Amino acid sequence: MDMTRYVNTFGRYLRAKHGEKVHKISVNASFTCPNRDGSKGIGGCTFCNNDSFSPKNTESGDITDQIVAAKQRVSERTKAKKFIAYFQSYSNTYGDLEDLKRYYDEALFDQDVIGLAVGTRPDCVPHPVLELLASYRDEGYEVWLELGLQSSFDESLIAINRGHGFAEYVDAVERVRKFNLNLCTHLIMGLPGEKPEDTLKTFDRVIELGVDAIKVHPLHIVKGTQLARQWKQGQVPELTLEQYTDTLAEIIRRAPDDLIFHRLTGSGERQYLLAPDWVMNKWDVLGALYRKLEAA
Ligand code: SF4
Repeated sequence: MDMTRYVNTFGRYLRAKHGEKVHKISVNASFTCPNRDGSKGIGGCTFCNNDSFSPKNTESGDITDQIVAAKQRVSERTKAKKFIAYFQSYSNTYGDLEDLKRYYDEALFDQDVIGLAVGTRPDCVPHPVLELLASYRDEGYEVWLELGLQSSFDESLIAINRGHGFAEYVDAVERVRKFNLNLCTHLIMGLPGEKPEDTLKTFDRVIELGVDAIKVHPLHIVKGTQLARQWKQGQVPELTLEQYTDTLAEIIRRAPDDLIFHRLTGSGERQYLLAPDWVMNKWDVLGALYRKLEAA
């Protein structure tokens, strides 16, 4: 299965640009999120249990220790020698600028770390943070800002208690563009009240606004969330593998040639996942997607 026949994958982009394999390694700087600490909300997004979507191998300890351990683990498995430090859990631009700089600098101190990927919310990217990220890009680092949008429909964002609307995303994109930063937007398919076609509409809107990359995954219903309670009460229809791969194949067909796909699915962790079962095996999902792309 050579997905790069149909999809401009992030791995292919990095290899072409840097001349070798570059691997993302997750770094946890113990941030929080305005949708959890009370400034926007308390309960967080209804689907959010950060433990469930932080990679199970995320190291503990300070950033340097995490990077050393992750590099060793990943290079044994993939032979990669260059890495991007991926600030993934919670909102990784939500903090004092000095603290952010200290975390990012520490991650980049390692000679094998050639860049940063910083995941956050559209309402957490003020001008000074964008300026800081652009300064790393100007020094020659590979810098990606990853914005969680999930849906362009305000009703859906309200239903999942997102704490921001589509307008905040539009505003963030306009400001990110002024700094010419690489932008990756995260979308979730299968949100309560949405049909797969709604994800297609969201995709079209995101493309129209301008984005360099997207990351798509099916909604995971995980333990310890408001969504899990709604699901147990029969209020959350489950997305099927067929719906997911059909819609993602259509997204891939519609995608501009230079759009980079950072991710085509997620992988559920058995200890947290309630539904849908099929997300557990990412290779089955990718295989089903590949067959659809081949058949088209
Ligand atoms: S998904 Fe992100 S924005 Fe939502 S509560 Fe979790 S950390 Fe915060």
